[in-house]
Amino acid sequence: MQLKYTNKINKIRTFALSLVFIGILIMYIGIFFKTSVLLMTIFMIIGFLATMASAVVYFWIGMLSTKAVQVECPNCHKTTKVLGKVDACMYCKQPLTLDPSLEGKEFDEKYNNKKYQKQMEKQK
Ligand SMILES: [Zn+2]
Repeated sequence: MQLKYTNKINKIRTFALSLVFIGILIMYIGIFFKTSVLLMTIFMIIGFLATMASAVVYFWIGMLSTKAVQVECPNCHKTTKVLGKVDACMYCKQPLTLDPSLEGKEFDEKYNNKKYQKQMEKQK
């Protein structure tokens, strides 16, 4: 079965990387509007903001990484980081959980949902 879940830190990192490329691309497009200083400036600013945003996202990942729990993946035995209650292994995408009550259950992103967690608390 192909798992569609990927490790959260990896996911955010991919997002930040694509932001850099989008930012550079937007700035590059701006060069084609040499005739209009205003248009070129707008493209340059948007592109610059996108690259800046990616820097912020990278910084955010750094913060998240320090908070994430390091575990050894039971499947590939590599050290991976788990963010939230459920996450996937960075290397083999093996679903992992920090909550013993969720062990053996089917992996579901909803376990990270605050609303869902509250609902489960009520049922106890
Ligand atoms: Zn693994």
